Parts: sequence; C-alpha cells; structure tokens
Amino acid sequence: PQPGPARETGGPAGAGAGDGKVETGADLPNPYEVAKQEIARACQVLGLDPAVYRILARPLRFIEVAIPVRMDDGRTEVFVGYRSQHNDALGPTKGGIRFHPQVTPDEVKALSMWMTLKCALLEIPFGGGKGGVVCDPKRMSARELEGLSRGYIQAMAQVMGEEKDIPAPDVYTTAQVMAWIADEFSQIRQQNAFGIVTGKPLVIGGSLGRHEATARGAVTVVREAAQAMGLDIRHATVAIQGYGNAGSIAHRLLYDMGVRVIAVSDSGGAIVNEGGLEPEAVAAHKEATGSVSGFPGARTITNEDLLTLPCDILLPAALENQITAANAGRIQARLVGEIANGPTTPEAHRILVERGVVVLPDILTNAGGVTVSYFEWVQNQCHWYWSEDEVNQRLEERMVRAFHRVWEAGQRLPTRDLRLAAYTVAVARVAEAMRVRGWIH
Ligand code: GLU
Repeated sequence: PQPGPARETGGPAGAGAGDGKVETGADLPNPYEVAKQEIARACQVLGLDPAVYRILARPLRFIEVAIPVRMDDGRTEVFVGYRSQHNDALGPTKGGIRFHPQVTPDEVKALSMWMTLKCALLEIPFGGGKGGVVCDPKRMSARELEGLSRGYIQAMAQVMGEEKDIPAPDVYTTAQVMAWIADEFSQIRQQNAFGIVTGKPLVIGGSLGRHEATARGAVTVVREAAQAMGLDIRHATVAIQGYGNAGSIAHRLLYDMGVRVIAVSDSGGAIVNEGGLEPEAVAAHKEATGSVSGFPGARTITNEDLLTLPCDILLPAALENQITAANAGRIQARLVGEIANGPTTPEAHRILVERGVVVLPDILTNAGGVTVSYFEWVQNQCHWYWSEDEVNQRLEERMVRAFHRVWEAGQRLPTRDLRLAAYTVAVARVAEAMRVRGWIH
C-alpha cells in the first residue's frame, strides 16, 4: 500500500512490525519500541526522574473495541478498532484515526506517543492520542465506511469529547469520515458537537487551510532549515516520496516558492526530470492514470532510486520505515524533512547524522496538521471563524518558533541531532506539566 488520496502523514509499519524487535540487519523496527527508545534517550539527556519515562512508555488508556457493520451483501462484518490515549498532562488527547489493513496496537500506541510530543513541541494545549481500525477502505463502499465510522465513535463515545479526546484524519480517513463522526457524536449527545473532531468539511465547522496544513508546515520548516544551514533553497533540488495529501501539496507549495522539485513518487513508481516537475501537470497525469508513473517528459525510476537520487533536499511523505540501514549510506541529500510519521529507522538515522545529513524529525516537520486542527477546535469552541490568511499566518509563526527551538537545542548537542533535540524540548514540557500537576516530583 502507498499514498492514496486520503493519506495525510505516514503509512503502515513495514514487515516485522509488531514482533517487538528493534532493527537488526534486514528486520524493520516495531514503531512502539522505537518511540520508547527515543523518549528514553531524551529523558536520559535531560536527567529526568525515571518516573517520567515510566509514565511516557505506555498510553494512560488503551481501548480495543469490536465494531459490527452490516455490509452491502447483507453479512455482518466485525471490525477491530483501537484508541490510544497516551498522555493528557497538557490538555485533552488529540490525534487522527487510521483505517488500514495493517493497523496494529503497537503502531497506534507509537503514533499516539508521537502526537503527545508534536503537541508539546508546538506548544499546543493538547495531549496525544491516536486511533485505528483494521480494515481495507479501498474495498468498502461509502455506505459501509459510514457504518464503520459511526460504529467507531459509538463504541468510543464515553472517552471522547471536546475536553477529553479529539480525533482527526489520518491514513485513508477523509473529511467525510470526520463529518459522519461529528454527526453521530452530536446525535449521541443530543446537541451539535462539532468540536469533537477536526479535519471536518468547512460547512460543518472545518477550518480554512486545514487540508494544506501538513504540507504548509513542512515546507515552512524546510525553508527555515535550509536558511540555517546556508543552503540556498531557490537553487536547491528536491525529491518527494509519496504523492498523497501531504506530498502533492508540498510539491505545489515548493513550486510556488520557485523551488525545483525534480522527482516525485507514489505506489506506481517514481519520476524524475532534473529540469523540474510542474505540479499541476503531474497531478493531472495521476488523476487520469492513477499514478505519477509514466508522466510524459520525465524518466520513470523506482521508489528506491528516488531516495538515493542526487538532490539537495529529500522529503519522505509516505510510509514508515522507508530510509533504512540498507539505503541510508547512499542518500545524497543534505537535508531530509520527515513529512511522514516514522519514515527513518533508528539505525538509518544514526548513519545519516554521522554523515552530517540534517534530518528534520517528523514530530516537528509534520506538526502543521495538528496545529491547524487546534485552530479548528478553537474556532469551534468560539463559533468565530478565521480567514485563510489568519490561519496560515498563525501556522507559519508557530512552525518557525518550533523550528528555532529545536535548532537551538540541536546546536547544544555534540552530534547536532535534531531528533534528539526535538524530543528533549517536547519531553521537558510534558514532564514539567506532570510535575506541576503532582504526577511526579
Ligand atoms: N493525523 C495527523 C498527524 O499525524 C493529524 C492529527 C490531528 O490533526 O489531530 O499529525
């Protein structure tokens, strides 16, 4: 599976996920083990009370539900759904719902831990959560998906709410899915409750700019990083892996800034043209044929070749575990911006950092999505709606501020490791909230 139209950030874990092992040779790591390791390192660098790690190493609440759905052929199918409420020290838990055949409890837990850290890093008053349903949305009708979406929120309703836990889109969940969730929850509560979920259609309280927010936030931090590194972005070349919501919109935004995107990819393959790719033409080709592959005026290469192409900036915007120990040594970009959740394995990350490649971590790079979700929730609570310019300007301010906090923390580390830097900034904030609330001393 590869990016589809609904894909926002990241994708399913690769082979080997869920086996509890960390990367050894060809094995790909379990994201939950990775998230724990990363938090442990940050706690160690910060010299925190070991209780901080013990609290953050597991979700405060993890729920598994069975969701019966009447299918179009008359059968009743039972789907398994999860919600991980990782930590609410900073506010109600927040995070998307993923519909995917390979969803696992460990993946959902890891994604919820990353949400806690993203919100802390962006100074958003939310904790971290994530949901998932094991299903294949590509093989379900709209009516079946509606039944599943309504069934999910019915099963979870007791632990959801504007001040409890607020879902949003993630892989293969759309604004339409959010609308069904908002409607079902409003029926349960017997009053409209649009602030229960973000990423909704505009007409029922969605926010202008939410659809583009993940890509816009990513492009903003990439621009700031290039400047901090002394890399002239106007003369830089960019390769983007994944052409879902985040990847395709990042292409358009970079193009509008005058930046040359030379390669893009999706599940059908990758295309490259050193002279630059025009986003509208590529999108039209994908619309017509189902893939970017075969785009006239570009060479078709493999997804693997895209990662190691000569370019200045590489933007993985598709799946987890894409940059691995097997290809990290051959990556030629000087800057890697993780638009996907968890695209780089820990071993690959170590190799990149040793080689002096600047890696902008996912919890910073893709945090634009949840940032505008926060703006959407604020607008719902106040019933006062902002212009697109206001949304974009506030997003820009927060992303720039977060980037500089991470960059400065990175300069103080001997390795200049921006992932560790981002984790220390985020974990310190969550730990401080837990301390003042009396959870730790
Ligand atoms: N699913 C997105 C993410 O991984 C957005 C979550 C949200 O908006 O709450 O960050």
